[in-house]
Amino acid sequence: MSTVRKIRMIGDPVLRKKAKKVAKLTRDHQKLIDDMVVTMHAANGVGLAAPQIGVSERIAVVELELDEKVPGSGQTYVLINPEISQMSPEQDEHAEGCLSIPGWQGEVARPLRVTVKAMDRKGNRIKFEAEGHVARAIQHEIDHLDGVLYVDKLIAPDRIWRIQDNESED
Ligand code: ZN
Repeated sequence: MSTVRKIRMIGDPVLRKKAKKVAKLTRDHQKLIDDMVVTMHAANGVGLAAPQIGVSERIAVVELELDEKVPGSGQTYVLINPEISQMSPEQDEHAEGCLSIPGWQGEVARPLRVTVKAMDRKGNRIKFEAEGHVARAIQHEIDHLDGVLYVDKLIAPDRIWRIQDNESED
């Protein structure tokens, strides 16, 4: 049984800690991953990092609703100890939101394409390329694992604005 967990909000110290690497995947991690996926769905998010539910370990989930124009959408990424091993020189400026900063969006510049190395939930090493919105969401989640929030990276201090509650956030 999966449980929707409480999402920690900006100001909570756990969001500013560098999360610990997962040394060995346990049954507790499987439950944690299931809880993260249902929590992300319940909150209408496109990604969630373990620190956002108060667990300072390097685990993130990303899932964008299937859209033919968005490569990598419609797939649930479970990333354990994820790292960006390569990034494109081309950057893209786009609005981001965060489930830990509800009601706001701001513009962040990020590499358009990245190569991601991680472990999947079975403990297999994986490596893949991501681009566009999926690449952005993965980079946003990896930042969470390092205690970084998108508001630290705005392209300009005034490039942040209020939004309606029902827009998607990660
Ligand atoms: Zn976030």
